[in-house]
Amino acid sequence: MKKREINSVRTPVYRDAGFELPTAGTTSGAFTAEADHEREPDLYIYSRYRNPTVVAAEEAIMAVEGSGWALLLQSGMAAIDTALSLFQDAGRQGTWLFFSEIYGGTLSYIGSILEKRRGVEVSFFRPSGGRYDYSHLERMIEDLRPDILFFETVSNPLLIVAEGRRIISMAKKRGARVIIDNTFATPLLWKPLDDGADLVIHSATKYLSGHGNLTAGVICGNDMTLMKSAIEYRKLVGHMLSPDDAYRLQTQMASFEVRFSRQCENASAIATILQLSGKTDRVLYPGLESHDTHVAARDLTGGKGYGAMITFDLSGSTPDEKRKRRDRFIEAVRPEIRLIPSLGDYHTILMPVEAVWGAKYPEPGMIRLSVGFERCDLLEEVIMRGLEA
Ligand code: PLP
Repeated sequence: MKKREINSVRTPVYRDAGFELPTAGTTSGAFTAEADHEREPDLYIYSRYRNPTVVAAEEAIMAVEGSGWALLLQSGMAAIDTALSLFQDAGRQGTWLFFSEIYGGTLSYIGSILEKRRGVEVSFFRPSGGRYDYSHLERMIEDLRPDILFFETVSNPLLIVAEGRRIISMAKKRGARVIIDNTFATPLLWKPLDDGADLVIHSATKYLSGHGNLTAGVICGNDMTLMKSAIEYRKLVGHMLSPDDAYRLQTQMASFEVRFSRQCENASAIATILQLSGKTDRVLYPGLESHDTHVAARDLTGGKGYGAMITFDLSGSTPDEKRKRRDRFIEAVRPEIRLIPSLGDYHTILMPVEAVWGAKYPEPGMIRLSVGFERCDLLEEVIMRGLEA
């Protein structure tokens, strides 16, 4: 069949597993170029190496993140695995320092893959109550001289906001490379690369795609040596995103800023309602002055927003009563708000904290809300229905 130029403004979904190379000469040129791991090849070879639909989606993310490069992978976990593996070196064994308040899947990965299988030496920095003690962190960095420091801008489920710039500067002074999981804050609230972070990762399953209909991860950076190394790692372990998911991600990225700003506004309104309702013991939302890291959040984001996640604890005189109120709340807000173990969707979803985190956060009345972009008055009605149940 004859190939035709189509007058479309989009990069189509290129589902080719392998791409046609016209001659043996161009084939050898393409493979030589491939070994150099440029961000965008002149000739595509094989979709596990590089795919034009994926490259187009990566460019959409680079525009939002303001990064020199972005690489898409099959999931946020694949992005975390790739980012960390770039610094693993058989000839050198240093310590990697992780904040303890990071996604549970990342913690399991550290234990089961990094420590148990790969023998990486890791240490954890823990918060003091609802905030971080930075002189303690400084002492840890001083004592351990870690090769890597890894943290999340906003922790989960307590929503502790890290003083990102201060942490980067502490780590850099001692020669540590800094990797930040910025999934909750998104580039709309903070761009860590502008402040000297080495790599930023996102679970693009969340706000970047925003519709709960795909799984993807991304690593962004400015250092071209790290980019080449990440392209090689992604190719060799087969972490490449599929062109179909890349296409949907790129399309959905077009509304990312509009979606996320509205989600932050809704969350701010809902957090206030929850706090004033008299039915909660605690409402954790960095935009509330009562939040332990409100000032850190305001300084970090310049007041651009406080995210779209809220964690609240329903009141009750006994754990059993709290648990019952939690269950009644979850039942009453359906079908508008459903229990879905994810976050960042355009519609509001929730998770019962104790049921998911178990002994780490055993508060029976606690619910984590991921606020969507519904009409705020309708969302408020649903929340009130839940509180009154
Ligand atoms: N990072 C954070 C902060 C997350 O919340 C998640 C998943 O919930 C991940 C990484 C992993 O992302 P994925 O599920 O896309 O692998």
